[in-house]
Amino acid sequence: MATLTHLVTPEKKVTSYETALHNFDVAAGKIELDRDIAHLLKSPDRELRVELPLMRDTGRLEVLVGYRVQHNNARGPNKGGLRYHPDVDLDEVRALAALMTWKTAVVDVPFGGAKGGITCDPAKLSINELEKLTRIFTSKIDCVIGPNEDIPAPDVNTNAQVMSWLMDEYSKRHGFSPACVTGKPVDLLGSYGREEATGRGVVIVFREAAKSNKIDFKKSTVAIQGFGNVGSNTAKILHDMGVRVIAVSDAKSGIYNAKGINISEVITHVKKNRVLSGFPKCEEITNAELLELECDVLIPAALDNQIHKGNAEYVKAKMIVEGANSPTTFEADEILEKKGIPVIPDILANAGGVTVSYFEWAQNLQQFRWDIERVNDELEKVMVRSYHDVEAMSRKHKVSMRIGAFILAVDRVARATKLRGY
Ligand code: NAD
Repeated sequence: MATLTHLVTPEKKVTSYETALHNFDVAAGKIELDRDIAHLLKSPDRELRVELPLMRDTGRLEVLVGYRVQHNNARGPNKGGLRYHPDVDLDEVRALAALMTWKTAVVDVPFGGAKGGITCDPAKLSINELEKLTRIFTSKIDCVIGPNEDIPAPDVNTNAQVMSWLMDEYSKRHGFSPACVTGKPVDLLGSYGREEATGRGVVIVFREAAKSNKIDFKKSTVAIQGFGNVGSNTAKILHDMGVRVIAVSDAKSGIYNAKGINISEVITHVKKNRVLSGFPKCEEITNAELLELECDVLIPAALDNQIHKGNAEYVKAKMIVEGANSPTTFEADEILEKKGIPVIPDILANAGGVTVSYFEWAQNLQQFRWDIERVNDELEKVMVRSYHDVEAMSRKHKVSMRIGAFILAVDRVARATKLRGY
């Protein structure tokens, strides 16, 4: 395994919002997008900042801050996840909301884009505090969400349980409303297959991209950063298909074995110990080392801005498939392009989650449940079609897959905006 010989911290941090705006500008320039439309699509429709007074178990009051940003709803109700993390701020939520507009347009599901979050460290909250916080947040954003307005979903550090509390709190005011949120448990009107949908989508897109980039999918070696919903499901599906996952990581550290790691055993280990560290028959590595491993495919599936101008030069993977949102800064993109490393962008690669969220929403509205085969078949169709739409666009304009995806999305959203009228 390679050891790091350089510092990985960049001098000035590029934010996800700067990256999102940069990619939008490049795509808008390529299709000579009307100046007024460009102006409209660059900024969010609505930004809500709310104070969240949380009475801690200790009896002390803590006032936390939450956000819901709705970027654009020209193509349908706003849609996007809810993140609980200490780094959540308005700029990050803005960037993630815009990415949701482009993502729902890439896979052509009838939604716009939104994102929300609370600046907090959920690891320091009891389950009781987490539930209270979610209910307070829901009551504060109640005025802007709803099945036809804005439909939240899970993201970093939120899950099906958090979505259940959200649904319950919303339903107290509006009557039983399962379609107000997706990513719910199957026992509470969630969709079969939603839990693993983002990972399944990543794998489908990876398989298609492997064909185009002359990588033997079945024989490839894969390193995955992040072992939460996206990382662990991607790893598990690949492992079950016989693809060799050689490294995975969580916030604390990573594990590496060039011969491949038994992901089912890792999942059992994490359930018991909560962390990857200590998993046998593997070498312990850092997150920085994982990003620079010799492998065929690197899948960042943790947080934003992990591949930046300070480390992009040292990436040795033959291809990057973005499970996370905005894991690569625009400066890193330029370096990777020069090195000839294709990047399959977030707004395509991780769109399996929002696609099955769309299926869940549709099932809830129709009060009709699909079986798992139908969910996975429909997901496969959407992801394969979207991959080839993006590839065709990137070939047509002689641009990267990221800019191809942005062109496809921006053009679709611009058309819908024009048709609806300003
Ligand atoms: P999660 O909370 O389930 O997991 C996050 C993982 O990242 C955990 O393993 C955590 O330990 C790890 N992590 C946290 N900080 C880290 C750090 N500094 N370095 C390395 N690893 C770190 O979250 P998730 O739902 O899997 O989301 C991961 C990414 O995928 C995010 O960018 C999210 O926006 C994106 N995404 C999620 C979904 C979804 O359906 N959950 C859909 C599309 C995109």
